[in-house]
Amino acid sequence: MIVTKPRDWARIKANLESIDAKSVFLMGCGQCATVAHTGGEKELAVAKARLEADGYQVTGWAVGEVACHLGGTKLETRKHFGSVDAADAVVVLACGAGVQTVADAVKKPVFPGLESAFLGTVLRSGVYEERCQTCGDCVLDLTAGICPVTTCPKGLLNGPCGGMWNGMCEVQTDRECTHVRIKRRLAEQGRSATRVIPAKDNSVKLKPGSINTRERKGQ
Ligand code: SF4
Ligand code: SF4
Repeated sequence: MIVTKPRDWARIKANLESIDAKSVFLMGCGQCATVAHTGGEKELAVAKARLEADGYQVTGWAVGEVACHLGGTKLETRKHFGSVDAADAVVVLACGAGVQTVADAVKKPVFPGLESAFLGTVLRSGVYEERCQTCGDCVLDLTAGICPVTTCPKGLLNGPCGGMWNGMCEVQTDRECTHVRIKRRLAEQGRSATRVIPAKDNSVKLKPGSINTRERKGQ
């Protein structure tokens, strides 16, 4: 999931002040931001109360199924057209993709209400760990399902580096070295840990990424 964290409230207020906004419509996301407890119904209620305490009128709020789905978000904002139209701005408690999708769906100034942190795993409720940088050339097949690009602070495909000490990472000293973990898990699975992973093909990392599965259907 996309892990988000609350954005500095002063920045949100500064955004609203920059357009002299007096009224706000709030949007959340029913997927990642709800799971992360940053942009679900509860968090929107808190944001609403906070905005009202700061003197803003909150014209309405909505938590759609998934904020980054353009069709769904257009539908959701149409359902709340009157409240969106009555607002000077829309504040979105979702990841950056969700914010941009809402900005495509409405004609009002749209501001982020969260910071997008990373693509990660929920280790347990409220504890998240970054697991993927969407590099487009995955090596998890060679690394026993542990991403060295993301979980080694140096992003080394092969390791350990010379700084590893007693199995621990030299950069994040409270964490086991990624490459020690990879080698151990490969060995546990009876797989060779000696293979050198070739340099990644960074040309597949072209930004902005785009995929059109409709085009593939005719192939
Ligand atoms: S190698 Fe790591 S960063 Fe790249 S796609 Fe796989 S999990 Fe994501
Ligand atoms: S000790 Fe291991 S995890 Fe840490 S930077 Fe070096 S190779 Fe990466």
